[in-house]
Amino acid sequence: MSNSILEARRGVGSGLAFVVTGPSGAGKNSVIDRVMERLPNLVYSISYTSRPPRSCETPGEDYMFVSKEEFSRRIEAGDFLEHVTYLDDHYGTSRSQIEAFIKHGNDVILNIEVKGARTLQELDLPGIRVVYIFLTPSSLTELEIRLRKRNTEDDAKIQRRLHVAREEMKELPRFDYLVINDALDRAIDELASIILAERTRIRT
Ligand code: 5GP
Repeated sequence: MSNSILEARRGVGSGLAFVVTGPSGAGKNSVIDRVMERLPNLVYSISYTSRPPRSCETPGEDYMFVSKEEFSRRIEAGDFLEHVTYLDDHYGTSRSQIEAFIKHGNDVILNIEVKGARTLQELDLPGIRVVYIFLTPSSLTELEIRLRKRNTEDDAKIQRRLHVAREEMKELPRFDYLVINDALDRAIDELASIILAERTRIRT
């Protein structure tokens, strides 16, 4: 294949970022993990957070766990493309990490809440085309069942997550794709299909 045809497919020097957003408890992590097992050249944007690790989480893989002070220092250093405070904890996407992944020829997948995704939509990211995917269970009732099953938080915190989720659902029309995670295998197929389709897109 000639170089010009390859360039038409990717856009010269451009990479793709897939932002998977939607309410906490929608199953973003499980769907993303399984899609990453399936597709090559897709790397995970490891967010920074000031929240403490859960027992099932690995520092440096699930998150970069840092103190509130370290998080503030990174805000001042300008390393976050976006950052939010979500239920008292801070979460942020590292600009340098994403730029390095793209530079090495990978596409990046981000797992972030809705406000952060909206912030990214306002940014100009040279050399990166961003695709926005909203992932959600079919109802808030379903979401509540999932949050309770996860068994990581008390009732008050679950209620706060549900309240945030209700607000987040209103933003749904602002994103490119909707994946309803009622059946895990189907949600995995759908997210993988979106990524494959966007990788073959030539008209943007
Ligand atoms: P959790 O505490 O359940 O891991 O995450 C809470 C919410 O924060 C989830 O919706 C998750 O997607 C989101 N989140 C994780 N990292 C980031 C980030 O870097 N930026 C933003 N805006 N949200 C994030």
